[in-house]
Amino acid sequence: MHVIIIGSGPAGVSAALYARRGGADVTVISKGAGGLTTAEWVENYYGFAEPISGAELEQRGIAGAERLGVRFETDEVLAVLPVEEGRGFRLEAACRTYAADAVILAAGASRKTLSIPGLRDFEGRGVSYCAICDAFFYRGKKVAVIGAGDYALHEAEILRPHAAQLSLLTNGEEPSVAISDGIAVQTQKIVRIEGARRVQHIVFDDETGMDVDGIFMAIGTAGSMELARKLGVVLSDGKIAVGKHMETNVPGVYAAGDCTGGLLQIAKAVYEGAEAGLAAVQYLRKQ
Ligand SMILES: Cc1cc2nc3c(=O)[nH]c(=O)nc-3n(C[C@H](O)[C@H](O)[C@H](O)COP(=O)(O)OP(=O)(O)OC[C@H]3O[C@@H](n4cnc5c(N)ncnc54)[C@H](O)[C@@H]3O)c2cc1C
Repeated sequence: MHVIIIGSGPAGVSAALYARRGGADVTVISKGAGGLTTAEWVENYYGFAEPISGAELEQRGIAGAERLGVRFETDEVLAVLPVEEGRGFRLEAACRTYAADAVILAAGASRKTLSIPGLRDFEGRGVSYCAICDAFFYRGKKVAVIGAGDYALHEAEILRPHAAQLSLLTNGEEPSVAISDGIAVQTQKIVRIEGARRVQHIVFDDETGMDVDGIFMAIGTAGSMELARKLGVVLSDGKIAVGKHMETNVPGVYAAGDCTGGLLQIAKAVYEGAEAGLAAVQYLRKQ
């Protein structure tokens, strides 16, 4: 009974406590500090007579979960995929692959995008945030991935067998990973995205350009919504849609915290994490 939780913020750690106390083997995978660590002082959370820094509150939460036997891994999850012809999930991450019987998405709310003129206008019309979902539509086409790290390379590798021409556009950054052969890298800053009904052209800051049929956004790391999309989890108003026990539409996948929307506060993240941790254990007991 192995539960993997993505995210070591209040939602993920609360889910870990409840799943562990419920008898599961629990691993939390986190790429590092979450939103809470940027809070200088927290003074609206239960149990503290004096304000506490967000960073200290988060560390105390992690220490408490470690004491109960929760394992913490520092890694960046790139995709969560159902195991073919079997039960459970495979998590592809920057350092290694993990196997889980149930997964709790608690990776916060941030969605990495860029404010390039034209980008938002073409979302769903050539601009995609999910290679696994949409690669098939770009068979034999010219495709660009925007990003410079592990996540961008992961998306490019999914597109590679489908696209006729594949480019990685780093938008002014140096690539932080070794780029495989067959993927052209362009490092100029992007100033504009153009098209008529669909995306057609990208303009760079040196006034050169590139014709494209599709653009895949993969800036920074995959957030909760990107991971959810790849799994076929339904979103509602840009957040993960959950039932009253934090279950998603995909059996064995739960979500908690800022990624489900509503009140973006610690108290709500902790409550939802508790529900998700308990529900994941109950689900696994019935399998
Ligand atoms: C400046 C600031 C001040 C705040 N002050 C308060 C306050 O005073 N009181 C209050 O109640 N709330 C406050 N909040 C809100 C509170 O911090 C959030 O509601 C809460 O942290 C949400 O918890 P979470 O677990 O859902 O997400 P987060 O705390 O954001 O944690 C997300 C976790 O997911 C991990 N992660 C993300 N993507 C990946 C990936 N691909 N692979 C692996 N790991 C990943 C991150 O590293 C992180 O560990 C504040 C927020 C900010 C930004």
